[in-house]
Amino acid sequence: MLFDSGIIGENFMKMPAKFTTYCPFCRNHQVHEVEKVKKSKTTGLHWIDRQKARRGKVGNMGKFSKVPGGDKPTKRIWLRYRCTVCKKAHQRPCFRAKKFEFKE
Ligand SMILES: [Zn+2]
Repeated sequence: MLFDSGIIGENFMKMPAKFTTYCPFCRNHQVHEVEKVKKSKTTGLHWIDRQKARRGKVGNMGKFSKVPGGDKPTKRIWLRYRCTVCKKAHQRPCFRAKKFEFKE
């Protein structure tokens, strides 16, 4: 009996870091590198950030109240596919998975 059989379910993704797929720029199949899209950091310069700083002090903070949120069971995985020939990247519709790893 395999111990890790419970991990490899439909929500567990393992993906090669490089694979051949269609490049919309080359209009051909090319080797692509897969990059994880990082979450963009907020600059703190937007209107909503200043509003938070102004209002988030006394009393009920309304829409700025922190609702305790647990971790969702699945995470959205954003990937970018960069063509090694033309160095351009394209994206595909993201998917959700419990766990995501790159194959070595
Ligand atoms: Zn290309």
